[in-house]
Parts: sequence; structure tokens; C-alpha cells
Amino acid sequence: MKQIACPKCRGEDLVKSGVVKGRQRYRCKHCNYFFTVLKEGKNIDPYYVIKALQLYIEGVTFREIERILGISHVSVMNWVKRYNIKAPENYEYRPTYKVLNHAELVEFFSNKESLNSSGCMITELGDKFMVIKWERFRKNAL
Ligand SMILES: [Zn+2]
Repeated sequence: MKQIACPKCRGEDLVKSGVVKGRQRYRCKHCNYFFTVLKEGKNIDPYYVIKALQLYIEGVTFREIERILGISHVSVMNWVKRYNIKAPENYEYRPTYKVLNHAELVEFFSNKESLNSSGCMITELGDKFMVIKWERFRKNAL
């Protein structure tokens, strides 16, 4: 079994704290952060298969997808093969992501600047939300 680490501090000293919508909830003993990880069984909910493939197309690496969704990068690689997914090359967007609770999500979108020159995808993630944001590279910034 792969080692689960706190997304905030990378701590590995975790306490199980219930199950939320098919995701195991943990509390980090080090920083007290709550987060959820997909319970990986034989069948992964197609919801997560689609999310993983969307992230792949948007230029997120396999390791990052593993970290974001809690699905092993091997599974994601297999789906990419199975569905014959090809991500476009010479990518002009840079994906970043945040995991926010509902209040933070509202705060994030109340700022118009959050959406300048970018696209967003919001995905429910147990008791929180993941916001993946793609910002266009500024040509002079490269
Ligand atoms: Zn932590």
C-alpha cells in the first residue's frame, strides 16, 4: 500500500476520521489539517476516471494527478492508454490547483482577478473542493 501523506505539511502521522462520499477522511496529527483520499477498490468511480483524464489533457503530470485525486499514477497511465488520450503539445497554460472548503471557494471567486486570463475547473473532493486553474503564460514572462 502506498504511503499517504498530508497535502499541507507532507506529514505521515495521520488519524482516520470517517468516510465522506466514498473517500477516507484523515486528520494530520502534525498540522491538524483534514483531508480525504479516494478509497481505492477494484472499481474506481467513473467520476474520478474522467477527472483524471481531464487533468491529464490539461497538462498535469501523472504524479500530480496521483497527489490530487489519490489515484495511483499507474491506474491513470492505464486509462490514458485504454482510451487513447493524447494531450496537445506546446502547452500554453500552466495548471495550478488549490483544495478549498466552501467558504474559501466563495472567497476565491469573489475576487475577479482569480479568473483573469485563466480557466477553472471545480471538482468535489469529499468534504472539500478542488479548484484547478489554468493560466496563460505571459509571453514576456518566459
Ligand atoms: Zn499536516
